[in-house]
Amino acid sequence: MGIRTGAQYINGLKSRQPEVWMSGRKVTDLVNEPVFQQPIREIARLYDMQHDPEYSDKITHICEETGERVSNAFLIPKSFEDLQARRALFETWAKENFGLMGRTPDFLNVTVSSMASNAAFFEKYNPDWAKNIQNYYKYIRDNDLFLTHAIVNPQNDRSKASHEQKETFTHLGLVKETPEGIIVRGAKMLATLAPITDEVIVYSFPGFKPRDERYALSFAIPIDTPGLRLLCREPMQDGTRSLFDHPLASRFEEMDAILVFHDVLVPWDRVFMHSNVEAANQLYSQTGLMQSTHQNGVRGLTKLSFAMEIAARLADAIGVDGYLNVQTQLGELVQSVEVIRALLRVSEYEYVTTPHGEVIPAGIPLETIRGMLPKMYPRAIEIIQTIGAGGLLMMPSGDDFENEELRDDMDRYYGGRSGVSAYDRIRLFKLAWDLCGEGFGQRLVQYERYYSGDPVRKLGMFYSNFKRQHSFKLVDDALNGALKAQKEPVGTQD
Ligand SMILES: Cc1cc2nc3c(=O)[nH]c(=O)nc-3n(C[C@H](O)[C@H](O)[C@H](O)COP(=O)(O)OP(=O)(O)OC[C@H]3O[C@@H](n4cnc5c(N)ncnc54)[C@H](O)[C@@H]3O)c2cc1C
Repeated sequence: MGIRTGAQYINGLKSRQPEVWMSGRKVTDLVNEPVFQQPIREIARLYDMQHDPEYSDKITHICEETGERVSNAFLIPKSFEDLQARRALFETWAKENFGLMGRTPDFLNVTVSSMASNAAFFEKYNPDWAKNIQNYYKYIRDNDLFLTHAIVNPQNDRSKASHEQKETFTHLGLVKETPEGIIVRGAKMLATLAPITDEVIVYSFPGFKPRDERYALSFAIPIDTPGLRLLCREPMQDGTRSLFDHPLASRFEEMDAILVFHDVLVPWDRVFMHSNVEAANQLYSQTGLMQSTHQNGVRGLTKLSFAMEIAARLADAIGVDGYLNVQTQLGELVQSVEVIRALLRVSEYEYVTTPHGEVIPAGIPLETIRGMLPKMYPRAIEIIQTIGAGGLLMMPSGDDFENEELRDDMDRYYGGRSGVSAYDRIRLFKLAWDLCGEGFGQRLVQYERYYSGDPVRKLGMFYSNFKRQHSFKLVDDALNGALKAQKEPVGTQD
């Protein structure tokens, strides 16, 4: 089939009934559920772009194996140009939602592509696992599927390993093997957008201990698999708030869910790994998951640029961007954007070719983005809050603004500097408040901190890897140079 349209994606959602719980009730009509309607539209729009002549050649390509047009997320890059083609997809889709939707279909499609192109890793442990991940890659590529992922154990007691938790199946684990597949029980989090996806893939960050074998799992199943329960967090919008009042929150909220597996059967052909602590601990570093960090980086750059532009437009609208303190904050934001932009470029230009010919962006600059964005983005939000100040809280609702009796007051007291009407200023400040004040915006800060794991441990791992790869030779040069200089008789220098 190849690339889907938005309508095909929506028809897929209509064709199944996953067990979704939200606000104390079972959601039985996903596509007409107000909380999900707008996010579904946003995702459908991305699928439609694949068919739009303006974008088609930029974000899709003809698959060599099938002759079908498929998303660039399924490209296994063999050259710098392939990396750029994939980046074009990340960038084009991120710009459609200003980088505020992190888990658009490209994110996990790239992840699975990268796992499949590193099938040799799975082969080492079990040839079936290698075959399964490769077939799964082809299946989601050819059907253009949308995945969520759940890779973190529920946050019960982080001081204990999985096998030491209060109950055997607090963390998702293997119950038994059957002729049809494995039975799994327990929970995983935090599957973003899960209710409106087609499938879920499960794998884990490293950190398994001896005796954690039953938890060392990786597999993928349809989101409506019997026994799989999706527990949504409390929605941050009810799907009925106006786009005038909440121009971002009403469009781009990504629902998160805990997945509870009640003795779910995972067919053997969907098992990518099980009962192997060593393999599970190596999975992340040995299967090129860096490729999805590329998507994160491009999307993060779009989001940070958006925050920077909002801060600049706020300052301009109320005539404060001539003040030195405001200029230094805005300058800091521009420089943050430039640092991330430069790091992305370095990662792409200094790409690495793996032994099996796959081209991957350089890891150190991408991981540096991963380390810096969790500090830069919250700072950007703080700057928006600081520049917008009380103005962020004085904005009327759209209904007030439309009320003829209030209109004169609105026009007189809500306008900005000369040339900025009340209408323009109110809309701008509401946009800013969605990003920096609403629950929606606070989730986006939390997302930037945690979307790919704990930044504290990630930075620790980053430095350990850096140390392994780096000789620190400049120090030797300086020490040797000093010895040499000491031995050279005075007057022999040129
Ligand atoms: C908005 C959002 C969306 C997300 N979407 C997804 C998704 O789609 N799929 C998915 O799988 N995950 C997703 N995540 C989850 C994300 O992977 C986790 O939040 C992240 O891995 C951190 O784990 P945790 O939240 O359990 O924090 P914890 O690991 O419980 O950490 C809590 C605190 O304790 C500290 N800490 C814990 N353990 C240690 C330790 N061993 N050593 C030192 N310090 C420690 C941490 O530094 C942190 O400050 C999402 C998270 C957020 C916030």
